Amino acid sequence: MELTSRQEIIVEIVKESGPITGEQIAERLSLTRATLRPDLAILTMAGYLDARPRVGYFYTGKSGNQMLAEKVKNITVNEYQSRPVVVQESASVYDAICTMFLEDVGTLFVVDKHITLVGVLSRKDLLRASLGKQALESIPVSIIMTRMPNITVCKQDDLIIEVANKLIDKQIDGLPIVVEVDYGSRFEVVGRITKTNITALLVDLANDEVI
Ligand code: ADP
Repeated sequence: MELTSRQEIIVEIVKESGPITGEQIAERLSLTRATLRPDLAILTMAGYLDARPRVGYFYTGKSGNQMLAEKVKNITVNEYQSRPVVVQESASVYDAICTMFLEDVGTLFVVDKHITLVGVLSRKDLLRASLGKQALESIPVSIIMTRMPNITVCKQDDLIIEVANKLIDKQIDGLPIVVEVDYGSRFEVVGRITKTNITALLVDLANDEVI
């Protein structure tokens, strides 16, 4: 968030003289308390200042960067998820390629007939399978997919920053969002989170649209 020059001056006054009342700040700026009210509300909401009743405003000591970092560290997966696109483990590589094109996604999740997550298919997994001589209709995806338990997953209430770390660490494009079923013995896929979702978060942060 960019501060106006008046807001910056207010922060400086509070930094030097806090705790200080709104009335006293107004006096220092030769303005009325009412004129300052919106600025003080913004600065308090944005986390630059804290207000204590009957004491006044004081500086929180946090830089803009620190506040941004705090904001990012509180965002959870469910705020930026996409819907999952799945194929059955009995589907052929040909079917999976068609699904990837039609659904316009880069990663497919493979499920069994109980919709349990069993595998992941990336673009390059499908490209690699296409390099062989075998007919793509005759190769089941279960042969070429990355399979459980080697799949990195996340849950809806995980932090986005944890997902971003996993994507970088494992050098992959996305994670399935899962819920545990049957006492954690299997996962069902409820969503998808990819580098694209994280790019959307970056854009929202730059536009100051993250609450
Ligand atoms: P691409 O292979 O198209 O560059 P990725 O980097 O996402 O796409 O995938 C790299 C490899 O990691 C692929 O073999 C893929 O099956 C596997 N993979 C993708 N996502 C996951 C995941 N969430 N957990 C484990 N392996 C994954």
